Amino acid sequence: MTREELYRSIYSHDTIYIPPHEEGSAALEVSLGCSWRRCAFCDFARDDFRLIPLDEVERRLRVLAVLQPEQTRLFLLGENPFMMEPERLLRIIAMGRHYLPRLERVAMYARVDDVLRRTDGELAALRRAGLAALHIGVESGCDSILLQMDKGITAAQTVEALNRLSGAGIDYYLTVIPGLGGRDHSRMHAIETARMLNRTRPKDIWCLKLHLYEGTPLWREARAGRFAMMEPAEILREERLMLQELTVTDCLFEDTTVLDRYTIRGMLPEQKPQLLSAIDYLLLTEAHGG
Ligand code: SF4
Repeated sequence: MTREELYRSIYSHDTIYIPPHEEGSAALEVSLGCSWRRCAFCDFARDDFRLIPLDEVERRLRVLAVLQPEQTRLFLLGENPFMMEPERLLRIIAMGRHYLPRLERVAMYARVDDVLRRTDGELAALRRAGLAALHIGVESGCDSILLQMDKGITAAQTVEALNRLSGAGIDYYLTVIPGLGGRDHSRMHAIETARMLNRTRPKDIWCLKLHLYEGTPLWREARAGRFAMMEPAEILREERLMLQELTVTDCLFEDTTVLDRYTIRGMLPEQKPQLLSAIDYLLLTEAHGG
Protein backbone atom coordinates (compact mmCIF):
# COMPACT_ATOMS: atom_id res chain seq x y z
CA MET A 1 0.00 0.00 0.00
CA THR A 2 1.11 3.58 -0.61
CA ARG A 3 1.31 6.00 2.32
CA GLU A 4 -1.92 7.59 1.11
CA GLU A 5 -3.71 4.25 1.03
CA LEU A 6 -2.44 3.47 4.51
CA TYR A 7 -3.76 6.79 5.81
CA ARG A 8 -7.11 6.20 4.11
CA SER A 9 -7.34 2.77 5.76
CA ILE A 10 -7.43 4.24 9.27
CA TYR A 11 -10.04 7.01 8.97
CA SER A 12 -13.80 6.91 8.36
CA HIS A 13 -13.91 10.27 6.56
CA ASP A 14 -11.74 12.03 3.99
CA THR A 15 -11.45 15.18 6.09
CA ILE A 16 -10.10 15.14 9.63
CA TYR A 17 -10.56 18.06 12.01
CA ILE A 18 -7.80 18.67 14.54
CA PRO A 19 -7.77 21.83 16.67
CA PRO A 20 -5.05 24.32 15.68
CA HIS A 21 -3.02 23.68 18.83
CA GLU A 22 -2.77 19.98 18.05
CA GLU A 23 -1.57 20.33 14.47
CA GLY A 24 1.28 17.96 13.78
CA SER A 25 -0.16 15.32 16.11
CA ALA A 26 -0.95 11.84 14.87
CA ALA A 27 -4.74 11.57 14.66
CA LEU A 28 -6.18 8.33 15.97
CA GLU A 29 -9.89 7.68 15.50
CA VAL A 30 -11.18 6.03 18.66
CA SER A 31 -14.83 7.05 18.41
CA LEU A 32 -17.20 8.51 15.86
CA GLY A 33 -19.73 11.28 16.40
CA CYS A 34 -20.94 12.76 19.66
CA SER A 35 -22.61 10.90 22.51
CA TRP A 36 -24.84 13.94 23.22
CA ARG A 37 -26.00 15.02 19.75
CA ARG A 38 -28.54 17.53 21.01
CA CYS A 39 -27.04 21.03 20.78
CA ALA A 40 -29.41 23.14 18.72
CA PHE A 41 -26.69 24.86 16.65
CA CYS A 42 -24.49 21.84 15.92
CA ASP A 43 -24.04 20.06 12.64
CA PHE A 44 -20.77 18.33 13.54
CA ALA A 45 -22.39 15.27 15.00
CA ARG A 46 -23.82 13.74 11.85
CA ASP A 47 -22.30 10.33 12.57
CA ASP A 48 -24.15 8.06 14.92
CA PHE A 49 -22.08 7.80 18.04
CA ARG A 50 -19.96 4.69 18.42
CA LEU A 51 -16.73 3.58 19.97
CA ILE A 52 -14.19 1.98 17.68
CA PRO A 53 -13.43 -1.57 18.95
CA LEU A 54 -10.09 -1.81 20.71
CA ASP A 55 -8.64 -4.36 18.27
CA GLU A 56 -9.40 -1.93 15.42
CA VAL A 57 -7.82 0.96 17.41
CA GLU A 58 -4.74 -1.22 17.79
CA ARG A 59 -4.64 -1.97 14.05
CA ARG A 60 -4.78 1.78 13.34
CA LEU A 61 -1.95 2.40 15.81
CA ARG A 62 0.14 -0.23 14.01
CA VAL A 63 -0.41 1.72 10.78
CA LEU A 64 0.48 5.02 12.48
CA ALA A 65 3.65 3.38 13.83
CA VAL A 66 4.69 2.69 10.23
CA LEU A 67 3.73 6.15 8.99
CA GLN A 68 4.94 8.31 11.90
CA PRO A 69 7.35 6.21 14.01
CA GLU A 70 8.94 9.29 15.66
CA GLN A 71 5.62 10.89 16.60
CA THR A 72 5.45 12.42 20.10
CA ARG A 73 1.85 13.72 20.05
CA LEU A 74 -1.41 11.87 19.69
CA PHE A 75 -4.85 13.39 19.18
CA LEU A 76 -7.79 11.05 19.77
CA LEU A 77 -10.58 11.65 17.26
CA GLY A 78 -14.32 11.72 17.84
CA GLU A 79 -16.47 14.61 19.06
CA ASN A 80 -16.13 13.59 22.73
CA PRO A 81 -13.98 10.49 23.19
CA PHE A 82 -13.45 11.59 26.80
CA MET A 83 -16.88 10.07 27.56
CA MET A 84 -15.13 6.67 27.54
CA GLU A 85 -14.57 4.83 30.77
CA PRO A 86 -11.10 5.73 32.14
CA GLU A 87 -9.94 2.10 31.96
CA ARG A 88 -10.56 2.08 28.21
CA LEU A 89 -8.83 5.43 27.72
CA LEU A 90 -5.85 4.30 29.78
CA ARG A 91 -5.68 1.14 27.68
CA ILE A 92 -5.67 3.19 24.45
CA ILE A 93 -2.97 5.53 25.77
CA ALA A 94 -0.87 2.53 26.84
CA MET A 95 -1.25 1.04 23.34
CA GLY A 96 -0.25 4.42 21.92
CA ARG A 97 2.94 4.35 23.98
CA HIS A 98 3.66 0.82 22.84
CA TYR A 99 3.37 1.61 19.12
CA LEU A 100 4.71 5.18 19.29
CA PRO A 101 7.49 4.82 21.87
CA ARG A 102 8.36 8.54 21.82
CA LEU A 103 4.80 9.57 22.69
CA GLU A 104 4.73 12.46 25.18
CA ARG A 105 1.35 14.11 24.86
CA VAL A 106 -2.24 12.95 24.34
CA ALA A 107 -5.19 15.28 23.76
CA MET A 108 -8.82 15.00 22.64
CA TYR A 109 -12.21 16.70 22.59
CA ALA A 110 -14.45 16.47 25.64
CA ARG A 111 -17.77 17.66 27.00
CA VAL A 112 -18.02 19.27 30.42
CA ASP A 113 -20.22 16.45 31.73
CA ASP A 114 -17.64 13.89 30.58
CA VAL A 115 -15.18 15.59 32.94
CA LEU A 116 -17.69 15.76 35.78
CA ARG A 117 -18.23 12.00 35.60
CA ARG A 118 -14.53 11.37 36.34
CA THR A 119 -13.25 11.26 39.91
CA ASP A 120 -10.19 13.32 40.88
CA GLY A 121 -8.27 10.04 41.14
CA GLU A 122 -9.24 9.07 37.60
CA LEU A 123 -8.23 12.48 36.25
CA ALA A 124 -4.87 12.20 38.02
CA ALA A 125 -4.31 8.71 36.60
CA LEU A 126 -5.08 9.93 33.07
CA ARG A 127 -2.69 12.87 33.53
CA ARG A 128 0.06 10.53 34.71
CA ALA A 129 -0.55 8.33 31.67
CA GLY A 130 0.05 11.28 29.35
CA LEU A 131 -3.28 13.08 28.93
CA ALA A 132 -2.07 16.66 28.60
CA ALA A 133 -5.04 18.62 27.24
CA LEU A 134 -8.75 18.59 26.54
CA HIS A 135 -10.53 20.74 23.96
CA ILE A 136 -13.96 21.72 25.19
CA GLY A 137 -16.79 23.70 23.61
CA VAL A 138 -18.23 25.70 26.52
CA GLU A 139 -20.12 28.02 24.13
CA SER A 140 -21.64 30.41 26.72
CA GLY A 141 -21.59 31.31 30.38
CA CYS A 142 -25.29 32.15 30.36
CA ASP A 143 -27.52 29.40 31.73
CA SER A 144 -30.64 30.44 29.85
CA ILE A 145 -28.74 30.31 26.54
CA LEU A 146 -27.17 26.95 27.44
CA LEU A 147 -30.66 25.67 28.22
CA GLN A 148 -32.17 27.08 25.04
CA MET A 149 -29.39 25.44 23.03
CA ASP A 150 -29.88 22.13 24.88
CA LYS A 151 -26.17 22.06 25.71
CA GLY A 152 -26.87 19.86 28.71
CA ILE A 153 -24.61 21.75 31.13
CA THR A 154 -24.71 24.90 33.26
CA ALA A 155 -22.09 27.61 33.69
CA ALA A 156 -21.46 26.49 37.28
CA GLN A 157 -20.83 22.93 36.09
CA THR A 158 -18.40 24.25 33.51
CA VAL A 159 -16.45 26.15 36.15
CA GLU A 160 -16.41 23.10 38.42
CA ALA A 161 -15.21 20.76 35.67
CA LEU A 162 -12.48 23.12 34.47
CA ASN A 163 -11.18 23.77 37.97
CA ARG A 164 -10.99 20.04 38.57
CA LEU A 165 -8.93 19.72 35.37
CA SER A 166 -6.62 22.47 36.63
CA GLY A 167 -6.27 20.55 39.90
CA ALA A 168 -5.24 17.45 37.98
CA GLY A 169 -2.73 19.38 35.85
CA ILE A 170 -4.68 18.84 32.61
CA ASP A 171 -4.71 21.89 30.31
CA TYR A 172 -7.88 22.97 28.56
CA TYR A 173 -8.57 24.88 25.38
CA LEU A 174 -12.04 26.37 25.13
CA THR A 175 -14.33 27.44 22.33
CA VAL A 176 -17.10 29.98 22.80
CA ILE A 177 -19.71 31.07 20.26
CA PRO A 178 -20.26 34.83 19.91
CA GLY A 179 -23.79 35.46 18.67
CA LEU A 180 -25.25 32.36 20.32
CA GLY A 181 -27.75 34.38 22.38
CA GLY A 182 -29.07 36.10 19.28
CA ARG A 183 -29.83 39.82 19.27
CA ASP A 184 -32.14 39.52 22.31
CA HIS A 185 -29.51 38.12 24.67
CA SER A 186 -26.32 39.48 23.16
CA ARG A 187 -25.18 41.61 26.09
CA MET A 188 -26.03 38.95 28.67
CA HIS A 189 -24.16 36.33 26.62
CA ALA A 190 -21.03 38.53 26.47
CA ILE A 191 -20.99 39.51 30.14
CA GLU A 192 -21.89 36.14 31.62
CA THR A 193 -19.49 34.25 29.36
CA ALA A 194 -16.64 36.54 30.43
CA ARG A 195 -17.68 36.13 34.06
CA MET A 196 -17.60 32.34 33.73
CA LEU A 197 -14.25 32.29 31.90
CA ASN A 198 -12.74 34.57 34.55
CA ARG A 199 -13.27 31.80 37.11
CA THR A 200 -11.19 29.33 35.06
CA ARG A 201 -7.63 29.06 33.72
CA PRO A 202 -7.85 28.24 30.00
CA LYS A 203 -4.77 28.02 27.80
CA ASP A 204 -6.81 29.33 24.92
CA ILE A 205 -10.18 30.93 24.26
CA TRP A 206 -11.16 30.42 20.65
CA CYS A 207 -14.18 32.38 19.44
CA LEU A 208 -16.07 30.77 16.59
CA LYS A 209 -18.94 33.04 15.73
CA LEU A 210 -22.32 31.48 15.30
CA HIS A 211 -23.02 30.01 11.92
CA LEU A 212 -26.54 28.80 11.19
CA TYR A 213 -26.25 25.36 9.64
CA GLU A 214 -29.20 24.43 7.49
CA GLY A 215 -31.40 21.78 9.03
CA THR A 216 -30.28 22.32 12.64
CA PRO A 217 -32.93 23.11 15.31
CA LEU A 218 -31.52 26.63 15.67
CA TRP A 219 -31.78 27.20 11.93
CA ARG A 220 -35.46 26.22 12.15
CA GLU A 221 -35.97 28.57 15.10
CA ALA A 222 -34.43 31.42 13.11
CA ARG A 223 -36.62 30.63 10.10
CA ALA A 224 -39.69 30.66 12.32
CA GLY A 225 -38.70 34.08 13.68
CA ARG A 226 -37.99 32.81 17.19
CA PHE A 227 -34.21 33.39 17.09
CA ALA A 228 -32.83 36.78 16.00
CA MET A 229 -29.60 36.02 14.18
CA MET A 230 -27.15 38.90 14.37
CA GLU A 231 -25.13 40.49 11.61
CA PRO A 232 -21.34 39.85 11.65
CA ALA A 233 -20.59 43.41 12.86
CA GLU A 234 -23.11 43.07 15.72
CA ILE A 235 -21.51 39.79 16.74
CA LEU A 236 -18.09 41.41 16.70
CA ARG A 237 -19.34 44.22 18.96
CA GLU A 238 -20.63 41.57 21.33
CA GLU A 239 -17.26 39.80 21.26
CA ARG A 240 -15.54 43.11 22.01
CA LEU A 241 -17.64 43.46 25.15
CA MET A 242 -16.74 39.94 26.28
CA LEU A 243 -13.04 40.57 25.62
CA GLN A 244 -13.22 43.85 27.51
CA GLU A 245 -14.59 42.01 30.55
CA LEU A 246 -12.05 39.14 30.50
CA THR A 247 -9.48 39.04 33.29
CA VAL A 248 -7.92 35.64 32.50
CA THR A 249 -4.14 35.42 32.42
CA ASP A 250 -1.61 33.43 30.40
CA CYS A 251 -4.29 32.71 27.82
CA LEU A 252 -4.31 33.00 24.05
CA PHE A 253 -7.42 34.72 22.71
CA GLU A 254 -8.29 34.11 19.10
CA ASP A 255 -11.09 34.38 16.61
CA THR A 256 -10.67 32.94 13.14
CA THR A 257 -14.15 34.01 12.02
CA VAL A 258 -14.07 37.79 12.46
CA LEU A 259 -16.53 39.39 10.01
CA ASP A 260 -16.31 36.08 8.11
CA ARG A 261 -12.84 36.94 6.78
CA TYR A 262 -10.30 37.98 9.42
CA THR A 263 -8.37 36.40 12.25
CA ILE A 264 -7.35 38.13 15.45
CA ARG A 265 -5.02 36.54 17.97
CA GLY A 266 -3.18 37.73 21.06
CA MET A 267 -2.15 36.84 24.60
CA LEU A 268 -4.23 37.94 27.55
CA PRO A 269 -3.84 40.14 29.36
CA GLU A 270 -0.74 41.63 27.66
CA GLN A 271 -2.20 42.12 24.19
CA LYS A 272 -5.76 42.96 25.15
CA PRO A 273 -5.38 46.65 24.18
CA GLN A 274 -4.13 45.68 20.72
CA LEU A 275 -6.94 43.14 20.28
CA LEU A 276 -9.54 45.74 21.22
CA SER A 277 -7.96 48.26 18.85
CA ALA A 278 -7.96 45.72 16.04
CA ILE A 279 -11.66 45.05 16.62
CA ASP A 280 -12.40 48.80 16.69
CA TYR A 281 -10.51 49.26 13.45
CA LEU A 282 -12.37 46.41 11.75
CA LEU A 283 -15.74 47.70 12.97
CA LEU A 284 -14.91 51.17 11.68
CA THR A 285 -13.82 49.79 8.31
CA GLU A 286 -16.97 47.67 8.14
CA ALA A 287 -19.14 50.69 8.91
CA HIS A 288 -17.56 52.48 5.96
CA GLY A 289 -18.26 49.65 3.58
CA GLY A 290 -15.17 47.42 4.19
S1 SF4 B 1 -21.56 18.39 22.44
FE1 SF4 B 1 -20.46 19.30 20.69
S2 SF4 B 1 -20.53 17.78 19.05
FE2 SF4 B 1 -22.04 17.18 20.60
S3 SF4 B 1 -24.00 18.03 19.88
FE3 SF4 B 1 -23.09 19.53 21.29
S4 SF4 B 1 -21.84 20.93 20.00
FE4 SF4 B 1 -22.31 19.08 18.79
